[in-house]
Amino acid sequence: MSISVIVPCYNEDVSIKLFLDKFYEVMNKNNFSSFEVIFVNDGSEDKTTETINNYAKIDKRIKLISFSRNFQKEAAMLAGLDNAKGDAIVVIDADLQHPIDAIALFYQKIKEGYNIVYGVKKSRNYCSFKNLIFSCTFYRMYNLFSKFKMPNGASDFVMFDKKVLETLKSYREKVRFMRGIFYSIGYKKVFIEYEVCNRKSGVSKWNFRSLMNLAFDGIFSSSTLPLRCWLYIGVLVSFISVSIGIYFIVKTLYYGIDVAGHASLLVFISFLGGVELFILGVLGEYIGRIYWEVKQRPSYIIDEMINIE
Ligand code: UDP
Ligand code: MG
Repeated sequence: MSISVIVPCYNEDVSIKLFLDKFYEVMNKNNFSSFEVIFVNDGSEDKTTETINNYAKIDKRIKLISFSRNFQKEAAMLAGLDNAKGDAIVVIDADLQHPIDAIALFYQKIKEGYNIVYGVKKSRNYCSFKNLIFSCTFYRMYNLFSKFKMPNGASDFVMFDKKVLETLKSYREKVRFMRGIFYSIGYKKVFIEYEVCNRKSGVSKWNFRSLMNLAFDGIFSSSTLPLRCWLYIGVLVSFISVSIGIYFIVKTLYYGIDVAGHASLLVFISFLGGVELFILGVLGEYIGRIYWEVKQRPSYIIDEMINIE
């Protein structure tokens, strides 16, 4: 059996060397020689391409797919999947935050007959408090809305067999949330916890805004419940309005017209206005995503490939 290792890279010049040093060490220790490492250079502005190129010249098992610009990690993972040839495929970050040693353990599980091995983060010591709250809230919201549940420490560090690879490749949506796809496909699975290491060099490529965008993509691409729940809320608000209406009709018939109540009327109207704008926002989120899907633009543009036919 051979292993394909997919490594999305965006400005990871220094990390590549550290990654490959450790990777070769792990492969030698476990006597694996049948592997390919597919680095997907996601439009890096530093020397990532040159660094990978230098390794690729010496070892044909080191492969490179270079994008014409930055397409984000989700697209980089897809390009890796599209070109992976191994029997077991693993997706791993370049910054050594995912323990490379764990590849041997994941591989063992695939050999035992599991189709997909999910790496789950054990602790979040590396996270800032703000990011920790954000990610916990995200997983709660995601599990609330989506039919497919994800553990709190779900990650993109995942290994799977050829059968799963073919399934994943058939998911061609443009607005992608790979983690949601990983957790929605079924198959015989096992979860393995791992300790997230600190980034060995460079900085995280995610800021609060891009994390928010990814979180929205995750929820809106996995569920239509945010649309449907407004139907339930609409029914409830209509019921309350009709009840209040009947109450006022009966009250007027018995006690005559009462002019007081301007404040409550104002609050009620502005509340409904707010709810309607909110619904429009939710609708907009879906329409925006439909817009990107119907355009059928490519998920990524390849500038060059090395050691890949
Ligand atoms: N990455 C990428 N494209 C991007 C952002 C990140 O290919 O637009 C890669 C990055 O080089 C790394 C992995 O995705 O190998 C995870 O990124 P990062 O470490 O910045 O994320 P974090 O670990 O902070 O969640
Ligand atoms: Mg990282």
